Amino acid sequence: MLKQEKPDAAWDHLVDAQMEATRAAKAHDCFRHLEHCYHRLEMIEKIVFPPQVFVSGGVIVYKQECSICGEDYGECEHFAGKPYMGEFCYVTVKDVHSDHLSFVENPADKRCRVTSFNTNGGSRNWMTWTIEKDDENI
Ligand SMILES: [Zn+2]
Repeated sequence: MLKQEKPDAAWDHLVDAQMEATRAAKAHDCFRHLEHCYHRLEMIEKIVFPPQVFVSGGVIVYKQECSICGEDYGECEHFAGKPYMGEFCYVTVKDVHSDHLSFVENPADKRCRVTSFNTNGGSRNWMTWTIEKDDENI
């Protein structure tokens, strides 16, 4: 993605790789060596990309569903992040209301970040620092 001059997509792929390495290392001792892979990916993050501004959304969740059995999460026997017959359990939120947005240093998901901001005459991309002029959006 970097060779294609798509740094935002490159960032998302890097973060995906970091998250999957962490999940695999936690899933089973056979994959514990991937902790080293995560640290290597973290070094790439620090060397290749500019420092990021992360955000975290505060939400009120009224209903959560287990991805393995479909029951209300917390009522079944599955745990989010654990593998079951080769499939990771995750929680799907079904009834959620936004509450607030915060700037954080260590987000749960590094893909939640400031990607651009408004400036004189356009929108400045955080990765490339280029300005996309307002009239280019028309
Ligand atoms: Zn379940």
